[in-house]
Amino acid sequence: MSKRNAPTPTRPAGGIDRHGARVFDDASHDPYRSSVKYKEPAVCETCGVVLHQGRWHWAMAEPGAHGVVCPACRRARDKLPAGTLTLEGAFFVAHRTETMNLVRNEAERENEEHALNRILAIDEQNDRTIVSTTDIHLPQRIGRALERAWDGDLVIHHAKGEYSIDVRWRRD
Ligand SMILES: [Zn+2]
Repeated sequence: MSKRNAPTPTRPAGGIDRHGARVFDDASHDPYRSSVKYKEPAVCETCGVVLHQGRWHWAMAEPGAHGVVCPACRRARDKLPAGTLTLEGAFFVAHRTETMNLVRNEAERENEEHALNRILAIDEQNDRTIVSTTDIHLPQRIGRALERAWDGDLVIHHAKGEYSIDVRWRRD
C-alpha cells in the first residue's frame, strides 16, 4: 500500500479515492458511513446492528437481510478511532473507578440512541486513561458529563477539516 493510500482516521482502507475528495471536505461527515453504499435491509455480521431506511439501529434483522460489516465495526477492524478522550490528573487517578463508571454509562446511553457511536478501546495507563471511540460525539458527551459531575478542566480540540476529535478532561 502506498503512503498516499495508507488508512488514517478520515481515510478508510480500500477504494475510497474513487468516491472523490468531497467527503473529506466536511468535518461533520464520517467517511466510514459515506464510503460504502449498503443495500437494505442489512445486518452487521459482527455486532448485529440493523440498517433500515438509512438508519442503523438495534433491532431484530429482517429475514433475508444482507450480511454486511457496519461502519463502526469497520473502524474497529481497522483500529482507526474517530475520537479520543483522555482522562488525567490526581483526582482522576484517585477516583478512577467512579469516573470510568460514568464513562461507560454515558457510552451505553449514547449507544442506545446512536448505534454506531461506541467505545472502541480503553487504554488504562498509570497516570491517565485514553478512551477511543468510533465517532466525534461520544467523547464530547462524556467530557461534558465528567465536567458536570466533578468540574475539572475540559478541552475539546476539533481536527481541522477532518472527522476527528480529541477531548481531554483533567482534574488534579
Ligand atoms: Zn457492526
